Amino acid sequence: MEARARLRDDGGVMRIEIINTGSELMLGNVLNTHQQWLCKQLADVGWIVERQTAISDDGKSICNAVRESLGRAELVIVTGGLGPTSDDITRDEISKLLSRPLAVDAAVKKHIVDFFAKRGREAPAQTLVQAQVPEGAIVMTNQHGTAPGLAWVLDPNPFRESSRAVLLMLPGPPRELKPMFTAQSLPWLKTVLSTPVSFAVRTLRSTGIGESDVEANIAGPLAKLVAHGLVIGYCARTGEVDVRLSARGDHAKGIVLEAEQIVRTLLGAALYGIDEERIEEVIIRQCANGGQTLALAESCTGGLIAHRLTNISGASAVLKVSWVTYSAQSKLSLLGVSEQTLAGHGAVSEAVAREMAEGARLNSKADYAIAVTGFAGPDGGTDVDPVGTVYIALASRCGTQVSRRINRYERETFKHVTAQQALELLRRELLGLRQLEGKK
Ligand code: ATP
Ligand code: MG
Repeated sequence: MEARARLRDDGGVMRIEIINTGSELMLGNVLNTHQQWLCKQLADVGWIVERQTAISDDGKSICNAVRESLGRAELVIVTGGLGPTSDDITRDEISKLLSRPLAVDAAVKKHIVDFFAKRGREAPAQTLVQAQVPEGAIVMTNQHGTAPGLAWVLDPNPFRESSRAVLLMLPGPPRELKPMFTAQSLPWLKTVLSTPVSFAVRTLRSTGIGESDVEANIAGPLAKLVAHGLVIGYCARTGEVDVRLSARGDHAKGIVLEAEQIVRTLLGAALYGIDEERIEEVIIRQCANGGQTLALAESCTGGLIAHRLTNISGASAVLKVSWVTYSAQSKLSLLGVSEQTLAGHGAVSEAVAREMAEGARLNSKADYAIAVTGFAGPDGGTDVDPVGTVYIALASRCGTQVSRRINRYERETFKHVTAQQALELLRRELLGLRQLEGKK
């Protein structure tokens, strides 16, 4: 709250509101990802959204929401309802609300006709409704569909005295909205809206320490910079905490840089990346640079570690093989775990994890092999190793290390956290960092 007030005082912040239309959002059929995505794009250039509204495809709701938002904000972004079906009424409603009559735009009409022609079809009559453009609107061509984006600089703003506002309407499908916003809307917004005062932001991503520990470590040492305009944001996800450092004004860059150095010193090895970087990206890059290869032997993560690594471009040069050895038999036959070890220690044990990793490394001839075995629950577990216990082994030419963790979550989160810990074990090994202590 304090930070927002300060941002306002320096005149660098404008009020921004987002309105997402769509009855499917109200029915819970579609997750409203536009809110999150648009807020992130705007925040990255220093524009913080003040209010998000989601409404159904209903004329009255759309008009009320747009009128109210324009009564408060300098930038209003409306998404959805620009398509050709009978429930797509946003364009019509806003044209009426602003008293800007619709007329066919020849260029948009040609785009629609060409769009279908390229697919060997004639444009269905109903799709041509999307060529109707309200008077005075700026048209943003839809490179991935047919409904154009529409925008106005409303000067004066009809719903707030002595002010101007920008109204931007974007198509609903994410694969149309995102490229249009990035390539056309954002560059245009930067030209028509007061340039934000200089703004700097850096997100540092950590793993292996909890949110409150992160804060306890860095909040005190950063207090002096906070007094000079640094804004700290914490975002905790399962197994990770992001620290967002931002500032605006003439010294923004210097403040954020200094804060970053302090956080880097204090959190050290727990920081694995910056901004959008993921831990699996760091691993693939590190291995690819060093010409090192990996093998995986996954039991309780069911292939999730392989999935995360193979989401990264360049993984094929690094990941040699991944076994999902879920049954005891497959641990014996595919990885060479010994029957005595299995019978003597059980499938979820330090000894089996060790043999899985060593077998995977031997069979694949990879430089590193990771193995995971654990009790995802809700059933299973023993007195010694209750539900949630997992053993993560990492074999390399220097030997094999095994970490025991207790991840008491429902199955999907258990898999996610375990995969995160396995990747972190490997990251630390690759970078020669001190390993985290496992929970006993
Ligand atoms: P279309 O031409 O596809 O009808 P449109 O501009 O009319 O485009 P909508 O009909 O509102 O857009 O939405 C089309 C689809 O886009 C929805 O079915 C949904 O899958 C997706 N979508 C719409 N709004 C959102 C949102 N806020 N978040 C995520 N997806 C959305
Ligand atoms: Mg639609």
